[in-house]
Amino acid sequence: MSATLPTENITRGTNGSRKLTPCPVFIGGEWQEIDGGAGFPVHNPSTGEVIAEAPACNAEHVNAVVEAAAAAYPAWWETPPVERARVFFRFKMLLEENFEELVRLNTREHGKTLVESRGDVRRGIEMVEFACGIPSLLTGETIENIARGIDCEAIRQPLGVCVGITPFNFPAMVPLWMYPVALVCGNTFVLKPSEKVPLTAIAIARLLEQAGIPKGVFNIVHGGRECVDALLTHPKVRAISFVGSTPIAKYIYETGTRGNKRVQANGGAKNFVFLMPDADVENSTRGVVEGAFGCAGERCMASSTAVVIGSAAKEVLPSLVEAARAIKVGPTDRDEQPNMGPVITRQHRDRVMELIGAGEKEGAKVLADGRGAVKNGNGFFLGATILDEVRTGMTVASEEIFGPVLNVMRMDDLDSAIEMVNRSPFGNGASIFTRSGKAAREFKHRIKAGMVGINIGVPASMAWFPFNGWDDSFFGDLHMQGREGVQFFTQLKVTTSRWFSYGEGSIWADK
Ligand code: NAD
Repeated sequence: MSATLPTENITRGTNGSRKLTPCPVFIGGEWQEIDGGAGFPVHNPSTGEVIAEAPACNAEHVNAVVEAAAAAYPAWWETPPVERARVFFRFKMLLEENFEELVRLNTREHGKTLVESRGDVRRGIEMVEFACGIPSLLTGETIENIARGIDCEAIRQPLGVCVGITPFNFPAMVPLWMYPVALVCGNTFVLKPSEKVPLTAIAIARLLEQAGIPKGVFNIVHGGRECVDALLTHPKVRAISFVGSTPIAKYIYETGTRGNKRVQANGGAKNFVFLMPDADVENSTRGVVEGAFGCAGERCMASSTAVVIGSAAKEVLPSLVEAARAIKVGPTDRDEQPNMGPVITRQHRDRVMELIGAGEKEGAKVLADGRGAVKNGNGFFLGATILDEVRTGMTVASEEIFGPVLNVMRMDDLDSAIEMVNRSPFGNGASIFTRSGKAAREFKHRIKAGMVGINIGVPASMAWFPFNGWDDSFFGDLHMQGREGVQFFTQLKVTTSRWFSYGEGSIWADK
């Protein structure tokens, strides 16, 4: 049985006018369209068309959704963890059955290629697979006889109402980093997906509903700052998971923790790929190019800077330029697929173009210029661009570009390259391509990044390991995914107990 997903419910009237795809909220198990207020346009980035509008939920909507989640919490908490997990086994099955429909919807509202959308949905499903096994991670600890006749135990309990606020770049995966874990741990949840890509999150939630999630346990609201602020300050919200840009992540962390809520907030990044003189040219070219231009560079784990060390420049640079120039950019919402899709909005494309211009002005050399792709149509296209001779202090070296732009920084040796990278305020990912075990070990040991790759493009951790940003790429203590995710969504209760003897002669004996 396959669910009905809103992939193709843009209908044409007889006059050719288009109806927008519905973008309802999901509160207490009811799907509702919200009227009024200026909403947020959702585009098909391949054509520039508006395909939906995300409503701007206000404090009143937020109060209703949090109250619904709070009301559903006691019964869900009392549901045994294995029963909670069973909902997610069914959910996983429905996600597989509807995989290609989700992929197409994801591509339509985000613009990434179908292959990239498959990766997005697959990584999300892996989180559900992880969540299905969470009951075994909920076990507690006991010390018998911590003092004579006294036992001590720590058990894990859920927190209550948790909130997720997500970015535009992985419409399927990032929300699934959060709520499967929160829910199997026994919490109830309110998701506020990116107002730029709300439709995939809605389609996936419809499958969770079909899988049997009880009313109010999982909810969705839409909107921007007003909605987020109301969620951040609501007294019944106990924890907030956020993924987005660094300034907003910092704001979310500071505001949430001020209200004594738990917060895990992933921010932006600049990631570095080291190319040593002994690196295999073919493999390192593939690693850098896929890492830099995959998903049009809109990934927090994008390989946005190639750090080319010593003589590596001679061989690797021509190969990188050739590969970048061969990337075909175009619309992704059809069967014939390009190598790279558009970026998310026209404004974002303009900003990336401005940054390329700023790099040029500050002395970078444009080795591959993707700006010509702007002429491809009404979609938000920009081709693969390589900026060489980028130096610390340039705008393109310090700001997250989040587009199909690869910076090249030339360094004399491994040591100075590590020192340069370790001064970056970010700390998400870094990789090295080399044949030298010694260089790889030195890099792994000294580089200031939470996710490290060796002879592989900057690697995003999979569901069973923490998504492990450091410094300005993460605000909080416990990361998403893996055991840390379970720790974030649970709190320990420590019980110390003593049982007196009720034997004959005891002062505690029953009279
Ligand atoms: P964003 O920060 O603009 O938005 C993220 C979320 O915050 C959205 O839901 C949005 O509605 C909300 N938001 C935006 N402005 C707000 C404000 N002023 N007050 C309250 N809420 C606000 O990010 P984006 O453009 O959607 O996504 C791209 C960014 O996300 C990049 O910086 C990227 O590196 C980062 N990202 C990080 C990770 C990670 O795990 N570190 C993963 C994916 C994306």
